[in-house]
Amino acid sequence: MAQALSRKIDQCRLCGSARLQTVLDLGSQPPANSLRSSLSETVPTVPLVLCRCETCGVAQLTETVAPQFLFSQYVWVTGTSKGAQGYSERFCDEMLNRVGPGASFAVEVASNDGSFLKPFIAKGVRVLGVDPARNIAAEATAAGIETLPEFFGGACAREVTAKHGLADIAFARNVLPHVPDPKDVIAGMAQCLKEMGVGAIEFHRADTIVRELHYDSIYHEHFFYYTLRDVEGMLQGAGLHAFDVMESPISGGSWVVYFSKQQRAASEAITAARKGEEALQLHKAEGWMEFAAKCKAHREAFIKLLRDARAKGGRIFGYGASARSSTLLNYCGIGPGDLDCVVDKSSYKHDKFTAGTNLPIIAPETAFADPPDRVVMLAWNFTDEILDDMARSFNWTGPVLLPLPGAPKWIRD
Ligand SMILES: [Zn+2]
Repeated sequence: MAQALSRKIDQCRLCGSARLQTVLDLGSQPPANSLRSSLSETVPTVPLVLCRCETCGVAQLTETVAPQFLFSQYVWVTGTSKGAQGYSERFCDEMLNRVGPGASFAVEVASNDGSFLKPFIAKGVRVLGVDPARNIAAEATAAGIETLPEFFGGACAREVTAKHGLADIAFARNVLPHVPDPKDVIAGMAQCLKEMGVGAIEFHRADTIVRELHYDSIYHEHFFYYTLRDVEGMLQGAGLHAFDVMESPISGGSWVVYFSKQQRAASEAITAARKGEEALQLHKAEGWMEFAAKCKAHREAFIKLLRDARAKGGRIFGYGASARSSTLLNYCGIGPGDLDCVVDKSSYKHDKFTAGTNLPIIAPETAFADPPDRVVMLAWNFTDEILDDMARSFNWTGPVLLPLPGAPKWIRD
């Protein structure tokens, strides 16, 4: 029998409590990367529902989509992003500053192509990557960054330490929201670290999601939506102590939280971050329920702005066929009646249709050969870069609707 596409949880993935409370129902949506080549192909849908655990407080999705439906076409390679390269060097410096002199071995969980390990090699630190994507792991190893092709957790950590010894540094970037058992990943990191070692975890912070209404960051690949408090709780459970945070300069609103086995004095940054989060009441139902109400109001306001513009006539293109825009389009019910097409640079997506909303995805060169009257910036987290590109490459400076962050608004209208 074919494996089911998804399974509904009946208890919290973290603490096992059955007390799950629905926060926001985004409707039944296809897994975001299921783009179709033809409209006659059917796409399965899975409920996209955010809930919170009334016992431990962590926000999570009610459905677990089987990994082979999510990651089979996983094509993201870290090193391809320009911003990531500069950040990898800063990340290395920040890490080495916190661990102190003499660090000799660093381990990265879900290391992708090894981009974030390269700066450590340049500083004379021995490195090991762990990544379950076999092809990417093999390429990284061939390029001189030894990468174990495995899922990281307690069992893998035992193998790593037996073969390579204990590490001064262990880090995991943008991993924790994707894994069904994050406690096992953290336990593995604890096992890998020397007594004086330092670890780091980077994750999309729930306080930004809530404050700026990033409901488009809710999609099936992200099982969890962590607060700093949630992550600190998991670290404590593994005998680790968070002592500092840094705001990640990429990926739109993420924390890097630093931790150690020995308790260290809390930095001003982490003290301020804890307070900011508490003010939003994300450890209680209230904070999340207010978020849900604001998302519903945002959807109405966004649809109205778009449809009012549509009523004036003329053509409107969307820009960006990402996982985020898939959630936004599906939740807001935006389809061929509202937009003429979605423009995207990735050739892999061209001549396909957006999942669930049936909009043709076309290359910028094709789209701007017959330019639109207006653009909706679906990839709003890259607004500056895209505005610049449309102006320079296509001499296009027309009105643009920004759905997020915060209230939707037209610019240059
Ligand atoms: Zn729980």
